[in-house]
Amino acid sequence: MPQCDSDGREQSEQWAVVGGGMLGLTAAWRLAQRGYQVTLLEAGDEIGGLTSAWAVGDAEWDKFYHVILLSDSSLRNLLEEMGLEHEIRWVQTRTGFYSGGRLHSLSSSWDFLRFSPLSLLQKFRLGCTIVYASRIRHCSALEKIPVTDWLKRLSGRKTFEKIWLPLLKAKLGEAYQRTSAAFIWSYIDRMYKARRTGLKREMFGYVPGGYRRILRVLSERLQAKGVTIETASPVQRVHWDAGEKRLRVEHGREGKQRVSRFDRVVMTVPSPIIARACSQLGDDERRRLTEAEYLGVTCTSLALDRPLAGYYVTNITDDWVPLTGIIEMGAIVRPEYLGGHYLVYLPQYMLSDDPRFEESDEQVHKRCLSTLEKMYPSFDRSQVAAIQTARARHVMTLPTLGYSSRLPPVVSSVPGLYLLNSAQITVGNLNVNETIEIVQHHLAESILPDVDARNSTSTGQGQSDSSEARAVAASG
Ligand SMILES: Cc1cc2nc3c(=O)[nH]c(=O)nc-3n(C[C@H](O)[C@H](O)[C@H](O)COP(=O)(O)OP(=O)(O)OC[C@H]3O[C@@H](n4cnc5c(N)ncnc54)[C@H](O)[C@@H]3O)c2cc1C
Repeated sequence: MPQCDSDGREQSEQWAVVGGGMLGLTAAWRLAQRGYQVTLLEAGDEIGGLTSAWAVGDAEWDKFYHVILLSDSSLRNLLEEMGLEHEIRWVQTRTGFYSGGRLHSLSSSWDFLRFSPLSLLQKFRLGCTIVYASRIRHCSALEKIPVTDWLKRLSGRKTFEKIWLPLLKAKLGEAYQRTSAAFIWSYIDRMYKARRTGLKREMFGYVPGGYRRILRVLSERLQAKGVTIETASPVQRVHWDAGEKRLRVEHGREGKQRVSRFDRVVMTVPSPIIARACSQLGDDERRRLTEAEYLGVTCTSLALDRPLAGYYVTNITDDWVPLTGIIEMGAIVRPEYLGGHYLVYLPQYMLSDDPRFEESDEQVHKRCLSTLEKMYPSFDRSQVAAIQTARARHVMTLPTLGYSSRLPPVVSSVPGLYLLNSAQITVGNLNVNETIEIVQHHLAESILPDVDARNSTSTGQGQSDSSEARAVAASG
């Protein structure tokens, strides 16, 4: 809401939102709706971050695969505000499982009963684990239990070794040993919701045009609300100037750097980047930012002239396969939106300092193609119209034991500086819906109350309130 200066004239506070991914864009939108003047500073040439798009041959789509769930209510509300919700195409999907050198369908209860890698008893225990996990509503206790212990206890050692362990290793590498049970709970919860909401079938959605279209509309709406979007403007330093009582932000690419001043700054970029840019943060805040372990991903996109097997997700338990899974976007998005092609993603998650991030595209492509040839007898390289690899070192923080107790505060010790990135997701896995929810939650619960408190202090009201509080405390 607009603030008043000492003469009672209305003035709008100047805010910077650093980072133009979905989190920063949502924060900018919500702040602009409250009447603040917002500048969004994004390092890349385009907004969108992990949701940004590119062209793989003729297929223009997201660099990293994205689907919307029926249960993604906050994302769907945002899309409704953008006038896009009614355009979502909902598609029933199938799930595959690659185990013991064979591809199995795991799309229905009947498929599950026929799933040969597990005995009937093992399947029963696996099914019970999933149903039990999906009924848990508060996962704070799970943060204290290693994921391995929890899954072994619920599913039994054999099922753990055959199914869960390879899946954990494929997603987390050896870091699975430090991960809490909250990680797998949030994953099961989200996937179970994909079936529970709706008709007990797995339904995924997308907006025709993918996130490129969502981002275009969001950017138009932001600008219509007065938000300034500056791309190619990486932030190097954010510094509280006690004399000016404002935050100095140094930003821009080499040769084009400049300093802008803001009343408030919301940092939405990965934690190590915040720690580097904000040197006035306290030792404890900096330690919490730098100690968070990040998972990254290399994700190879292929435009094929035919589907692979038609499963949206194929989970993999065979440890010779150097991939976290196979994602056939072509099973959801019609080829007419993808230049006539079937888009396949081959993600491989790893810790952000993994040396495999340094591999050349050629090395990665060679490995991906030979893996597909071994896994799918009907696949050959002549079916590939285009292939490209995207890399992101900071995708999500690793939910280690006691994770939420080590988070940096959203309201930092530097006046007007707020730290709100996806590391704050403590009760869900990384997805756009959670991202929007943490923005809404922390704006309402921490950031705006802090703004009100600081404004009332600077107009004197807060000072008298706090002296009154101190007086009461002293007299008590
Ligand atoms: C492989 C993969 C699959 C996924 N699948 C799904 C899915 O199916 N459904 C779903 O809902 N979600 C999915 N997600 C998650 C989704 O992409 C994220 O939740 C979301 O995009 C996170 O947004 P963010 O703004 O927090 O982070 P980011 O998108 O990483 O945005 C951070 C931004 O900050 C910018 N930046 C960095 N440093 C600076 C700096 N110094 N100055 C200024 N700007 C800077 C970056 O360029 C970037 O644009 C997936 C993610 C991945 C990687």
